[in-house]
Amino acid sequence: MANDEMGMRVVVDRSAAASGRKCGICSMCCKLLPIHQLELEKPPGEWCRHCIPGRGCGIYEDRPDVCRGFKCHWLRDGLWGDEWKPNKCKMVLMDGEMTNGQPALRVYVDWGFPGIWRRAPYCQQLINFSITHYPVGVAERTRRFLIYKGVELAEKQGQWGEENGVTEWRIDGQFD
Ligand code: SF4
Ligand code: SF4
Repeated sequence: MANDEMGMRVVVDRSAAASGRKCGICSMCCKLLPIHQLELEKPPGEWCRHCIPGRGCGIYEDRPDVCRGFKCHWLRDGLWGDEWKPNKCKMVLMDGEMTNGQPALRVYVDWGFPGIWRRAPYCQQLINFSITHYPVGVAERTRRFLIYKGVELAEKQGQWGEENGVTEWRIDGQFD
């Protein structure tokens, strides 16, 4: 699927494409991501009505433009190892943005696997990414977390919200 077409802002298009990677039977973006477009409306955490899990999109040839060209971070960025393949790690990584305009990494977690992002080897890599790149926002079914410069912020320090179809983290207070 292209995430900018999914009502979500693309901030950084990392050019280091992970060569040779393919979606295969993954389809996790068709489950974990919210899509708010005229052609397709789906909440996060639920399979798209067109998806045949384990087989792919049931309307592949006619899938909406919103789905064409979407590449999660694992698919397009060799920074993320094979342990991050979404149907393996139960998470989908994609670009996001904070309300202060700062780029962020968004991590959508499968509702059936809460807390999996805290396990090894995932958590330390997310912490490192928040130090070397930019903040990491994690979305579970009902809880949201933000890792900022290597530190997990308390939930009261911000919240995820949605504005004009864009899901983003709203920071309470100033962070440099
Ligand atoms: S989550 Fe990534 S690897 Fe899986 S189907 Fe979507 S784009 Fe492909
Ligand atoms: S239309 Fe197809 S590609 Fe798009 S979210 Fe649904 S199953 Fe996935």
